Amino acid sequence: MAKTLRLNPIRCDGYGICAFVLPERISLDEWGYPVIDSRPIQGGLVADARRAIDLCPVLALSLRQVSDPPSHARETPNDAHAHADPDHLRTTAGSKIRRSPSR
Ligand code: SF4
Repeated sequence: MAKTLRLNPIRCDGYGICAFVLPERISLDEWGYPVIDSRPIQGGLVADARRAIDLCPVLALSLRQVSDPPSHARETPNDAHAHADPDHLRTTAGSKIRRSPSR
């Protein structure tokens, strides 16, 4: 399964070592803090990502599994139909409510 690089911005002190080890996925902003490319890391880049993680002096980097979106975030065909029906609105809890007739 693919992995993505994650940054703990609270821990990061902006030394910038990671960007030199993994320039394919990490760049530095104008203050020297890393900007992480969230695309999956695969193949030969995995070893370089692990090296960047190991060299970070404050342990601010990690590799995380790319997981499926949570089930409540997936849209079913019925959901798509409900969105297309102008007479139905959806509450934040996901239940349908019927719009009151206009006067
Ligand atoms: S090596 Fe660690 S502390 Fe330094 S910029 Fe990268 S994540 Fe931040």
